[in-house]
Formats: sequence, structure tokens, C-alpha cells
Amino acid sequence: MADSRDAAALARLVTDLQVQGLVEPGVPGNKGRRGGAGPSDHRALTLDGTTVMVPVYSSAAQRSPFRLAAGGAGLELQRESATPLAVVEAPPEPRFYGLHTADGTPYRSIALLHSRDVLATTLLQTCIRFRDRSQSCQFCAIEQSLDDGRTLVRKTPAQVAEVAEAAVRLDGVRQLVMTTGTPNSDDRGARLLAETAAAVKARVNLPIQAQCEPPEDPIWFQRMKDAGVDSLGMHLEVVEPEVRRRILPGKAELSLERYFEAFEQAVAVFGRGEVSTYLLAGLGDSAAAIVACSERLIAAGVYPFVVPFVPISGTPLEHHPAPSAAFMVEIYTAVAQQLAASDLRAAAMSAGCAKCGACSALSLFEQAAATSDAPSAPPQAGCGPSSS
Ligand code: SF4
Repeated sequence: MADSRDAAALARLVTDLQVQGLVEPGVPGNKGRRGGAGPSDHRALTLDGTTVMVPVYSSAAQRSPFRLAAGGAGLELQRESATPLAVVEAPPEPRFYGLHTADGTPYRSIALLHSRDVLATTLLQTCIRFRDRSQSCQFCAIEQSLDDGRTLVRKTPAQVAEVAEAAVRLDGVRQLVMTTGTPNSDDRGARLLAETAAAVKARVNLPIQAQCEPPEDPIWFQRMKDAGVDSLGMHLEVVEPEVRRRILPGKAELSLERYFEAFEQAVAVFGRGEVSTYLLAGLGDSAAAIVACSERLIAAGVYPFVVPFVPISGTPLEHHPAPSAAFMVEIYTAVAQQLAASDLRAAAMSAGCAKCGACSALSLFEQAAATSDAPSAPPQAGCGPSSS
């Protein structure tokens, strides 16, 4: 990374791009993904050597002032006028996408390349909460990619291990992120995550992040760790009580305090900075609530991976607006200052979304804060035990 002013300028440009999206005329390369779990309807683009995920398939992205166009220097990022803002590269399709298992299953329906070097898979593409849309997380599209046969309902440990080995060998993949829909079992998917981690580690030495809801019995944290999971994500998504009830009516049955109890248990096993959570900004939580929650998370050793909400086609929130860039900059700046004053670093994690960082500008703000003399953000109210 160049000096702190360059880092800050890139961080703001990425923030703008991720909230507004981009019109792109079918540029070749890895096309990204639609539907599925987590952030989606986006593709990877590399600006100034940093690869980020930019919404391109949502309806809001079609109205973005940003566009990609062929220019004198190559692929150019333009905003309204034809003045180039940056030269952009579209990472190529990975070579493992051309392979199939012995029974003819395409590798790309088992796992996908995210960003530049992250292999990502959703082990269980169904979720106990999804079939009843009044209970499901309103932003989620986990079962949508099943409808057109792009993925499998359930990936076996052996399938994931086979793809992981090929992705490391052929495409230089450096970490594996495994998430899962929540099954109807007390382990909340931890058993399948542990079995898959063991199978992958038996074939290839690849850092792994597992993502799940808090399992009922904390013994599963140790079992996942013993099986080869290096880093764990348990995702709050939103934090204020009314917003939790509205956006994640089913998952909100697990209180914020239950999450913090699980975070403490997980950090005791995985270590400070190896546990993280997603915070989706733009769904109703105030900036103060997100910043206050981040402060509490960091104190507990949990990395708060703040991501702008991006509406996904076909979900109940497909027409919900993305947050403004100013809202995101306010949160990123405060959380990055908290991180700079702490012992947590995205880059120091073994694996996971916060280490990848491509769905957020937070790690860019973190780098800018680490090289500036900016004072720490003042403490803010909220996210304490009384707000659960
Ligand atoms: S941050 Fe997570 S979801 Fe986003 S591209 Fe990286 S690994 Fe995938």
C-alpha cells in the first residue's frame, strides 16, 4: 500500500463503488455470483492492486453513475463523464472451474472463487429458517441458487476437499471460507463444518474459516478447532433489537447476549482476532449503534466485519436502498480507529471474510488509520446488555 493519503482515497472510492454498484458491459473474467448465502450479485474487480467485490447484477447497480469501459490504458472505471478514475482488472475465471468430479459434478457447483484467492462454499444450501419467509433473514438468497441447478443442496466433505486441492494447485487459492445454512440440529452445522475441515486438511494445507450460528453446546468450538478450522465467523448482521426482529425474525430468537456468550466461548478456543462477525450496515441500525457494538466486539476479541448492505434480486429486500457512502465512511472511520487502537488486525487472521476483506472497505480504512495520527473515536452508547 502506498502512503496514508493514497490508502484513504482508495478506501473512499471503494466505499462509493460498493454502495452504488457499477454498470459493466459484460467484461470477460470471473463473473462473480448471483443468489446464495451472504453478499452476492457482485463480481471481483482489482483497483490499484486491491481486489474488491462490486455489485453489478442488482437493479440498483444498473442506475449507478459508475461504469466500466475500454479505454486507452485498458479497462477503465469512469463516473458519468468519460474521465477515467482508475484502471481496473477483472480477475480471470479460475482454472478449477473447468473440472468435474468422477461422477460428473462440476467443481464450480461445489465451491466458487471469491475475490482473487479465496475458495468459498456453502456446505448446506438449505436453512431451517428459509422456507418460511416470515422467519428467514430478509436479505438472504441461500436457496435461490438451487433453483436453476447452479449448486448442490449439500456438498460432501470429500467433494470440498477434492475441489480445495485443485484450487490450491491450479489457481493459488490461499484460504477456504465455509458457511452453511442452519440445519435442524443443536450443533447448528458445526458437525458438517468440522467433518469438512478434517477432510480438506487431510488433502491440502489450507487455512479455513467456518461460519455458523452459535451451536448449543460450546464443545463444538473445540471440535471444529481440532478438526482443522482456524478461524470462526458467527454473524450478528444487525444489532438494534427492533432491527433484529424486523430483518432476522427467526435468528433474533437468539439474543444479542447469547451471541456474546458464544463469542467469549469461541475466543477462548480460537484466540483473540480469530473470531469475527458480519455487521450489515444500512438496514436500520444507527451508525452509533454499529460503532458501539464494534467497540464491545473488539474488547471481546471479535473482529467486527462491517459491510454495506447490498440488495439481492429476488429477496424481500431487493428494493431496499443501499446505505449512503457518507454513512459508511462515518462507521468505517470510527471502527478503523478502534481497531488501530486494539490488537486485532484483518491481515493477522488465519482465514475468513475479514481477512479477505473484498466485500467491505473496512480493511482499507484500517490501513489508513494505522498510518495516520487520527485520534481514537470517542466511546458511544448502545449494544450493551441493556440493548439486547
Ligand atoms: S469477504 Fe467473504 S463473502 Fe466477500 S468475497 Fe471475501 S470471502 Fe467472499
